[in-house]
Amino acid sequence: MGSPYRGVADALEGAAATRGKLAKIERMAGALAPLSGPELAAAARLLSGSPYAEWEQAVTSVGWATVARAASAVTGWDLETIGASARAIGDLGEAIGLLLPPEASGRSGLEILEVDDRLRALSARRKAAEKAEIIEDLLRRASPREAKYLVKTLSGGLRVGADLATVEEAIAAAFGSPREAVARARRDSGDIGETAAMAREGRLDEIRFRLFHPIGFMLASPIENAEEVAGELSLFAAEDKFDGIRAHAHKSGSRVALFSRTLDDVTAQFPEIALALGAAPGQFLLDGEIVAWKDDRVDSFFRLQRRLGRKAPPADLLAEIPVAFVAYDCLASGETPLFERAWTERRAELERIAAGGGFFLSAVRDAATPAELEDLFRAARERGNEGVMLKRKDSVYLAGKRGRAWRKWKKALATLDVVVTAVEQGNGKRAGMLSDYTFAVRDGDRLVNIGKAYTGLTDEEIRKMGTRFRKITTARYGPVRAVAPEVVLEVAFDTIQKSTRHKSGYALRFPRIVRIREDKLPAEADTVQRVEEIWRGIQGM
Ligand code: AMP
Repeated sequence: MGSPYRGVADALEGAAATRGKLAKIERMAGALAPLSGPELAAAARLLSGSPYAEWEQAVTSVGWATVARAASAVTGWDLETIGASARAIGDLGEAIGLLLPPEASGRSGLEILEVDDRLRALSARRKAAEKAEIIEDLLRRASPREAKYLVKTLSGGLRVGADLATVEEAIAAAFGSPREAVARARRDSGDIGETAAMAREGRLDEIRFRLFHPIGFMLASPIENAEEVAGELSLFAAEDKFDGIRAHAHKSGSRVALFSRTLDDVTAQFPEIALALGAAPGQFLLDGEIVAWKDDRVDSFFRLQRRLGRKAPPADLLAEIPVAFVAYDCLASGETPLFERAWTERRAELERIAAGGGFFLSAVRDAATPAELEDLFRAARERGNEGVMLKRKDSVYLAGKRGRAWRKWKKALATLDVVVTAVEQGNGKRAGMLSDYTFAVRDGDRLVNIGKAYTGLTDEEIRKMGTRFRKITTARYGPVRAVAPEVVLEVAFDTIQKSTRHKSGYALRFPRIVRIREDKLPAEADTVQRVEEIWRGIQGM
């Protein structure tokens, strides 16, 4: 008898039921501790939400309709009831768990390895009917809780408030391995499963770095002015902050893979970059920016935008908006990972590789005083870039972490005074708080939505606002509360884009709340004409 999948489902349920990170880790560690080998590997992956290792870049690719159809066959309920239940509860997995016949509670359930095997088989099957058959078979033998987490795994969202880092910590706790060693092994192997199995055997240090799987990105902390770093400028190197799409470029022989910040493989969207990098000598992993390129320099993000979301861009678009890769870090060269080396050393390696061509290299500059940094900032803006980045010369590359070793300095464009029209509960730390605000600008005497903001207020402010929003709720649509348009916010944003998503016809990129304008009435909020003016300013019209 193999180990039961019940252990995984129970741990996920336990993690979902507790708010504390430590308690979540404990639940997961408890499920992993008694396992070993392939069962342990599969359980660790399933706890992280997928039967696949990250390096496999695979998804089960099962649509909602396929799952619902299988659930209908197993529960006897029609698709409409299943859909309505899922909407009412807000989760298809939970709804299906509840709709299973009463005898399902007494089932002995599934085994880890068969769940792993069947879920993996899903991506190999093309036809929806074949996929539905596999799911139906699993659901017929699953207990309600197992069904719930099976379906959540299929829908690609466990929503138990745990991520890969939580599972890493659970592995460390279960097998007494140092957390850093677990994180390193997971990063290098691209497989939380293999990491768990090797941790149990005390062999984490045998895991070697492999290219071609997504790696977390190192992120920067913001500064608002040069004075903030006055005392420590000598520790940093400065670079322009390019306005493009962050990407990691993996390359070996003529094989190239580009991964986006969301860890998706975007290689096919940028064939000219793949081709140029593929022709460069050597094997490497670079961190950098995909930018629109024109007349030997970076072009605006607005032009690049037209290339985004095009899986296979047609030839005329490729010709009209060429793109290039500007590299600013080197994370592996040949067989050697460089994450733990200092920035200075990584930079030297990057310059060596850049000599082979295939991409552009960011220019590095020094600023000794805040005044010099301001000059660099102005010059960067004049070159059409967003601002400057500062990188601590002695810092290692912390994949997936935002720290103070990298700083970013960019100017918010302008701010807008907007009116809150709807609110929703947040996620994660802010689950249960009405923290997500949809907001609008004026258009004549109507209000038209232009965006949604989640950040900027303190928990205390959010709580106060929550009480107010509950009082002025005018209607509820599932999780969304429409509110009387009374509250004015000042929001900052990185830029404005045309968008069909919002009624206003525009969308703000990265909106954040600067403050609540208690001093302003909704009638004094900004207008869609003002938005258009700012947008025109950006276009240089
Ligand atoms: P932000 O998206 O404004 O939070 O700023 C961080 C982003 O700036 C990174 O994710 C990169 O996409 C981008 N960026 C542009 N130039 C650089 C650079 N020289 N070094 C690091 N990140 C950069």
